[in-house]
Amino acid sequence: MSDFLDFFARQADAALDLLRQLVEMESPSTDKAAVDRVVRFVAERARAAGATVTVVPQERWGDHLLARWGEGAGGFLLLCHLDTVWPVGTLAERPWRVEGERAFGLGVYDDKASAAIILTALEGLQALGLPPRYPVTVLFNSDEEVGSPSSRSLIEAEAARARVVFCIEPARPDGALKVWRKGTGRYTVTALGRAAHAGADHEKGINAIEELAHQVLRLQKMTDYGAGTTVNVGRIEGGTRANIVPDRAQVRVDVRVKTMTEWERISAAIEALQPVLPGARLIVEGGMSRPPMEASPVTLEPFRRAQEIAAGLGFILTADGTGGASDANFTAAMGVPTLDGLGALGDGAHSVDEHVLIPSLAERAALLAALLREWS
Ligand SMILES: [Zn+2]
Repeated sequence: MSDFLDFFARQADAALDLLRQLVEMESPSTDKAAVDRVVRFVAERARAAGATVTVVPQERWGDHLLARWGEGAGGFLLLCHLDTVWPVGTLAERPWRVEGERAFGLGVYDDKASAAIILTALEGLQALGLPPRYPVTVLFNSDEEVGSPSSRSLIEAEAARARVVFCIEPARPDGALKVWRKGTGRYTVTALGRAAHAGADHEKGINAIEELAHQVLRLQKMTDYGAGTTVNVGRIEGGTRANIVPDRAQVRVDVRVKTMTEWERISAAIEALQPVLPGARLIVEGGMSRPPMEASPVTLEPFRRAQEIAAGLGFILTADGTGGASDANFTAAMGVPTLDGLGALGDGAHSVDEHVLIPSLAERAALLAALLREWS
């Protein structure tokens, strides 16, 4: 297997150049034309590497891309997203740059390095004349960073016929794969009161901001670090002017849980919130956006197999988890064996310090190629 590692080490410069091209094509989830350009670029590369390519058109979000090597059920499903959180124009402020062993850029770690790794792995297997052991479908989606609203059904349909799902999302900074991820929920809580003149009729008003302040404290206190549950009031708005008793105020709330049991407990508590001030009303809207991926045989069993294959390459794979959700949450919740965090090593996803460790591009391409060859 060391030949294999050497082969991919020789592709390192090409992989880095491909990554630069991907990073220099800005692709925020909310800019369809921009994401579609990257989708077309990746479609061409996949076709040149022998894939049958299908673009799944979308109206609101970027198009999704299915690249297939081989046909039929019982194959590998690889997931990778081509959208980023960075608006068009950010590239001019923070261009691609390489410092020593690190490459910095927009979405470089989350998740464009993964696209470079996937293409490098499959191009490499083609060049070596070593086909994957089972059919491969790669689903490149364009709306992951906004919760995969338009790609979820496609992900689930493909996962239902797959042997195993490899979610090519960033590894942990130390290279660990992700065998658990928290689930996420979103709520909007709106307090309604009664408007009144702050001078002439103060006593006739019902202050929606005061009502909401009580609810904010209740929500924040639902956080239980021991259970891995967080409730974050992340946005607040309300009222119009200082001299008017406000009749409306609203917060947006992010919920993270490690288990479905915790989700049931917390969602029941949020939905049961009752107003404190006489005459005030509350409207609670929202629910779960991605279910938790619990550490279970669904994630641990494929992790053990990957560990064995990695050991053959001389890599020691470790397992960890994260509070952030990914599309792996959907497939693991279906009970489909799911391995997540196979992307590049690096740090700073969604931050100005986002970067990858350049040597990990070739290493992870070699690992992915080995998994596709040797998985049983
Ligand atoms: Zn991501």
